Amino acid sequence: DQSVCASLPVLGRDVTVPLVTGGEVTYAALDYAASAPALQRVWDDVAAYAPYYGSVHRGAGYLSQLSTDLFENARRTVAEFLDCRDGDQVVFTRSTTDSLNLLAAALPADCQVFVFETEHHASLLPWRNARVTYLDAPSSPRQAVETLERALADREPYGPALVCVTGASNVTGELWPVRELAAAAHAHGARIVLDAAQLAPHHPVSVADLDVDWVAFSGHKLYAPFGSGVLAGRADWLREADPYLAGGGASRKVARRTDGGVDVEWHDSAARHEAGSPNVIGAYSIASACAALTEAGFDNLVAREQYLIEKVRTGLAEVPEVRILSLFGDDAPRVGVISFVVEGWNSSHFAAALSAEYGIGVRDGLFCAHPLLRTLLGSDPQTQGECGAPEAAPGEKSLNAIRVSFGAGTPDEHVERFVDAVK
Ligand code: PMP
Repeated sequence: DQSVCASLPVLGRDVTVPLVTGGEVTYAALDYAASAPALQRVWDDVAAYAPYYGSVHRGAGYLSQLSTDLFENARRTVAEFLDCRDGDQVVFTRSTTDSLNLLAAALPADCQVFVFETEHHASLLPWRNARVTYLDAPSSPRQAVETLERALADREPYGPALVCVTGASNVTGELWPVRELAAAAHAHGARIVLDAAQLAPHHPVSVADLDVDWVAFSGHKLYAPFGSGVLAGRADWLREADPYLAGGGASRKVARRTDGGVDVEWHDSAARHEAGSPNVIGAYSIASACAALTEAGFDNLVAREQYLIEKVRTGLAEVPEVRILSLFGDDAPRVGVISFVVEGWNSSHFAAALSAEYGIGVRDGLFCAHPLLRTLLGSDPQTQGECGAPEAAPGEKSLNAIRVSFGAGTPDEHVERFVDAVK
């Protein structure tokens, strides 16, 4: 039902781009997994608020107080969107990467971390200062749960532990068995953080129902602008940790000691980890996006997206040279994120041609998930740069892949143009 698409218009739908073949065409943004276009609604909400802009938690002035209210209301809206438990904290961060680094900095002493090698680097790398166990790529959701259970049962010594797992892969789009992984973690005395960067824009996320301890996501993938993210969940580890950043806003009381040093009492609330003037526009726009998605109804969004996924997968299946990348197989539930390689083609050239000849924006490369790409492609990516990849020599296996991704606001025409272009 394209009316779902019409009910959530996004920015940039009228943007035209030049084609190398001459003329121009409306841009087909099919790289939502990197950054989704902002919702018109978010833009309108921010524009309506902009004249009332004021610094948060600082001033006695009316606009300052108004901004503080909006900021704290945004926290409540996000807590509702995520179906948080009583007592959970919502910390505004810069991004998913920032949220997971914050949690990594707040781990209790001797915490062991368990993470699948298939994770995005944002979930894979922040734990370097803890003891990390990297788990092998599973070939089914069931195997993921069994692998985790075995690793947790074997852990020595038995102490605090954290599992970090993605809700939906930024490469395959496949859903991970979050509820089962959370149950396994808890059964073995571990906690779990959900990387919902790719899940939250496409599916409802209930912290209470999934029984995850924390969840992280980014505004710019959830139809809000860049620069803001969320870490939400249990307050205890966050409250007991040193502030992520030291500075104003995080401290309740600061006093010189008689010996010349400084004593600090930090806040116990989310403010503890939000030192500095907070990104009120970022928080407000995330809350606006959460409200818009909730109002549109995830059932409608999911149904619409599944229809688009089917269209793309059916179209790609008609091209014998195309291989869709998957860990869990064709029947796995997934979001609108599909990566593939085309035999005989360098993925970067292919993606460049989609852009230059058809006005289609997709992503090529290794998607900041090098170990996963290595598993999926069966070749050593040997990357140049963080997310890019070198060209495969003629006859060599593809060293990188192409990713198409979409969501709210994607019209049929964009995915149809994409499938025709690939053909
Ligand atoms: N996790 C996943 C699964 C992602 O797809 C991404 C972004 N590609 C991130 C984390 C990091 O998000 P950000 O760049 O907004 O910090």
